[in-house]
Amino acid sequence: MRLRDFVGNQRLVEILRRGRLPGASLFTGPEGVGKKTLALSLAALANCKEGAKNELCGRCSSCVKEAAGHHPDIRLFQPHKNLIKIDTMRELNREVQFRPFEGRLRCFIIDQAETMTEEAANCILKTLEEPPETSRIILISSFPHRLLPTIRSRCQAFPFHPLGREEILRYLEDHLTEDHPEMRASLAEGSIAIALSLDLEETLEQRDRMLELLTSWCGQESFEALYKQCEQLPLRSELKTREGVRRYLNLLQRIGEDLYFLQVDTPERIVNQDRLDDLQKLSEGVELNWVRDFLYHVDRARWDIDHYVNPLMCFETLWLMSSRETSNVGNRHRQV
Ligand SMILES: [Zn+2]
Repeated sequence: MRLRDFVGNQRLVEILRRGRLPGASLFTGPEGVGKKTLALSLAALANCKEGAKNELCGRCSSCVKEAAGHHPDIRLFQPHKNLIKIDTMRELNREVQFRPFEGRLRCFIIDQAETMTEEAANCILKTLEEPPETSRIILISSFPHRLLPTIRSRCQAFPFHPLGREEILRYLEDHLTEDHPEMRASLAEGSIAIALSLDLEETLEQRDRMLELLTSWCGQESFEALYKQCEQLPLRSELKTREGVRRYLNLLQRIGEDLYFLQVDTPERIVNQDRLDDLQKLSEGVELNWVRDFLYHVDRARWDIDHYVNPLMCFETLWLMSSRETSNVGNRHRQV
């Protein structure tokens, strides 16, 4: 991938493509933001035969081999059955000593480096400390705290950040031809990998369920009625898992944001354009302050989820909390 086409983390990309790659580096950050892609592109850049201005030419024999995944000087190590074992790292220790076969630098990329066993990690300490002049090692990890401190301290760290919604949207519009790229981008949690793997049909179905729930809640349904609605399958079983509740909270956040955009008269920013009529009806029954509070409670519930509160309890508390706010709106007093 050309470096100029890389999405997100632009400052980091600039530093890395213009600078000299350190002997050992550690790329950290969430999954699906391009850590491995960038590592491979940098390895290709180090070996490109014609590239100018810190960019891959894409045509030379080196670039062609890298794109096809078999450049003899670029090695990618990945876990097998969730582990990188000592034998694999012994192979790295041996190969790191070779001079480049064709290019200028031999590059070794260890993906999901946190899956190295302790033995495997200990076996490359010396190599990380003093890699040969013509070799570079890049460790990649979304969970760097799981690495041995002795590994971390021997690498120069480069932190990657989640991508912005706009960045993901731009990527999707360039690479996908389908409806609802906004929906994908807004639920991607900063990761292109999540954006691409989202089951859109299922997501829209879940979104509709949340919209229905919110509509009946704002339409004076009692908590018991809401609870019954939650009891219905498949919602109930999904609400038992952290991941399930987080997904529903994300969808509720998008709906809440849409209500906010309607309230402040910027309907063009609405993500759920296909349900505009229903959103408008819902928006007429609530006030801006309620929408703000609702978004606050959704955010709060997400924080609770990440801090090990029971998922179903998080979800139910959200409704109880936002009901208290609704009771301030005109005659929306209700008993809970
Ligand atoms: Zn090239």
